[in-house]
Amino acid sequence: MISMTHLTKTYRMGDDEVRALDNVSFQVKRGEFVAIVGPSGSGKSTLMNMIGLLDSPDSGTYLLDGEDVSRMSDDRLAGVRNRKIGFVFQHFNLLGNMNARENVRLPLLYRGMRVAEADRLANCMLEKVGLAGREKHRPTQLSGGQQQRVAIARALAGMPEILLADEPTGALDSRTSVEIMDMLKELNAQGQTVVLITHNPELALEANRTVTIADGVLYEEAKAV
Ligand code: ADP
Ligand code: MG
Repeated sequence: MISMTHLTKTYRMGDDEVRALDNVSFQVKRGEFVAIVGPSGSGKSTLMNMIGLLDSPDSGTYLLDGEDVSRMSDDRLAGVRNRKIGFVFQHFNLLGNMNARENVRLPLLYRGMRVAEADRLANCMLEKVGLAGREKHRPTQLSGGQQQRVAIARALAGMPEILLADEPTGALDSRTSVEIMDMLKELNAQGQTVVLITHNPELALEANRTVTIADGVLYEEAKAV
């Protein structure tokens, strides 16, 4: 589903050059749960922005579902991103002036779905993440774990090919983190492709496959037995 070959991304700051991605080749198959692990500054966010079509590489090829997205125009990228990627972020990124249902339905409305149908689907997704009855709560009326569940419901509502989670438990206590990780595992068991980005090697153990990134170089790891 994801096939990246020899991706390179260099940032220039005055005379300084940082190779944020150095000849990265990376594959993800449909139905996999892959963790990308690396310390701060290793290039995780840069790689996540590539996978999620928020940024383009300087060189190399990215095929998403067989479609070359490495040199697509920003407009077309936005369309593919909207259809194929569901994002989950560390800080939830919910809109504070909207309730849970309105947050979840927003991307559906962007796609042109009618309000009644978007509401129905949003309710369904909130139920799926264990938030039935909380549809009208605003983010400030929900715990951190509940807010992240809303964010997961929002990401799933568009039926994305890939759920892309960047430090999804980074702002949560350990008990709530386990709940969110269990939810990601359960979604994967139901067939959802999940890519998890984290600096925490312990969290990465929850995935079926781990790759490590250091100084922009990606290393594939053998699964521990
Ligand atoms: P991580 O998410 O693993 O902490 P990043 O992908 O954010 O790592 O950063 C990788 C490297 O690229 C770092 O050295 C960082 O300073 C540099 N970098 C990231 N974004 C930019 C940018 N917009 N401009 C210049 N340098 C950047
Ligand atoms: Mg980062």
